[in-house]
Amino acid sequence: MSFTFDSKQIFIDGAWRDGLSGKFVELVDPSTGEMLALVARGSAADIDAAVVAAQAALDGDWGAMTAVERGRVLAKMGEIVLTHIDELAEMEAKDVGKPLTQARNDVIAMARYFEFYGGACDKIHGDSIPFMDGFTVYTLREPHGVTGHIIPWNYPMQIIGRSVGAALAMGNAAVLKPAEEACLTALALGEIAVEAGLPAGALNIVPGIGSEAGAALTAHTGVHHISFTGSNAVGTMVQQSGGEHVIPVTLELGGKSPQIVFDDADLDAAMPFLVNGGIQNAGQTCSAASRILVQRGIYDEVVAGMVAQYKALKVGNALDDLNLGPMISKRQQEIVKGYLSIAKTDGLQMLAQGSYADGLPEGGAYILPTLFGDVSPEHRLAQEEIFGPVQVLIPFDDEADAVRIANCTDFGLVAGVWTENGGRQLRMAKKLQVGQVFINNYGAAGGVELPFGGVKGSGHGREKGFEALYGFSVTKTVAIKHG
Ligand code: NAP
Ligand code: MG
Repeated sequence: MSFTFDSKQIFIDGAWRDGLSGKFVELVDPSTGEMLALVARGSAADIDAAVVAAQAALDGDWGAMTAVERGRVLAKMGEIVLTHIDELAEMEAKDVGKPLTQARNDVIAMARYFEFYGGACDKIHGDSIPFMDGFTVYTLREPHGVTGHIIPWNYPMQIIGRSVGAALAMGNAAVLKPAEEACLTALALGEIAVEAGLPAGALNIVPGIGSEAGAALTAHTGVHHISFTGSNAVGTMVQQSGGEHVIPVTLELGGKSPQIVFDDADLDAAMPFLVNGGIQNAGQTCSAASRILVQRGIYDEVVAGMVAQYKALKVGNALDDLNLGPMISKRQQEIVKGYLSIAKTDGLQMLAQGSYADGLPEGGAYILPTLFGDVSPEHRLAQEEIFGPVQVLIPFDDEADAVRIANCTDFGLVAGVWTENGGRQLRMAKKLQVGQVFINNYGAAGGVELPFGGVKGSGHGREKGFEALYGFSVTKTVAIKHG
């Protein structure tokens, strides 16, 4: 069965309704530049209605459900997601400009989050604590209440799955504000929730503009926790806004993640990850491997291998499922072009670029993947998050040099290390200032089960895995004196 929701409506209290502003936002297919759909421009009044519905769900049917029952509904949502795999993948491919295979992987990941958190619901609980004679003490793990979820455009399905899935598993009621540039699959989740039997109000979806719907959500005093994924600039504002009413805020922000290749690495194994880790989703990935640090002895060999791969990279319409689709927007395309012209002005060594498929439409937001060599670790292209398919190679001398360069940005999201030396693997894992370290792989295939998040400018709090369930809940201690 195909989806029947009207993209111009918003999803509140288990039902579709018109937005109160009467205004709309245009969604564009970045592969063509053509309009894809109109979506409601959610207002502060819509957010308020969503928060009221969420609180009513907590006070009603949703709050009354047992962990086992919540788990069944979430698992059902995952199951339904998979029955729509082709339709959701095509929707996401058109909305985000993501090649179809990558979009399909996102659908599967979203289903996995609902399966994982559905299964986790009844496996997380408080403790009983040995205490003074005459006391019984135990802890309860309770939901925060209403949770706000602010989502970026680059991986809507994955990020909604990990954030909303974990929040619902702990019994929170969610208000979701997807990105204005890509929100169709977020809306589809409303239809999936109804089909799965999620009680009305447990999940509410209000698309709109960040400074309107997003800001209204973070400022709403009826919201008890915010999960934000996006840029550092907006994340800072979100944390300040949450601080005004003293609520916890999880920030999943940007990155400038390295893959570090030592001269004893298995290069055949590493090579595809070095490139794919940087160009997946056209580089619009928070954990993109935008810096490749290579020990000098194998530098030329790594350059040759990466250059050969870059020359084979094809850029085209997301539906044609090549290596890269377009950028999300013309605006993002301009940002990346800006970095390419900085590289030119500063005389950076351009090693290779991919190529465009024939006959790409003028309106598409395409950019060629570009590899730069021998870049100084302090250069802007090695320090700033570009959020496009641009990688820089940085040579290093030894382990200490690699650690220093890897840690020398404001970010700290993930890092990859390629070495066969066991001691070095352990030392590097300890010394890298990041939230995830991958040894002899990169990304661990998305790892739904693996806690994820940053340190330093990449944010704080953890999503994914069991650990997210702690973030989406609060401990209450009960001390009973019975003599
Ligand atoms: P963004 O501009 O910060 O937007 C993220 C979300 O925040 C969008 O829904 C946006 O709405 C909303 N927003 C904007 N202004 C707001 C405000 N004043 N109050 C509340 N919400 C507001 O980020 P983006 O450009 O979509 O995404 C790219 C960034 O996200 C990159 O820096 C990337 O590294 C980071 N990211 C991090 C992770 C991670 O897990 N660490 C994952 C993906 C992306 P609009 O769409 O209407 O602007
Ligand atoms: Mg779009």
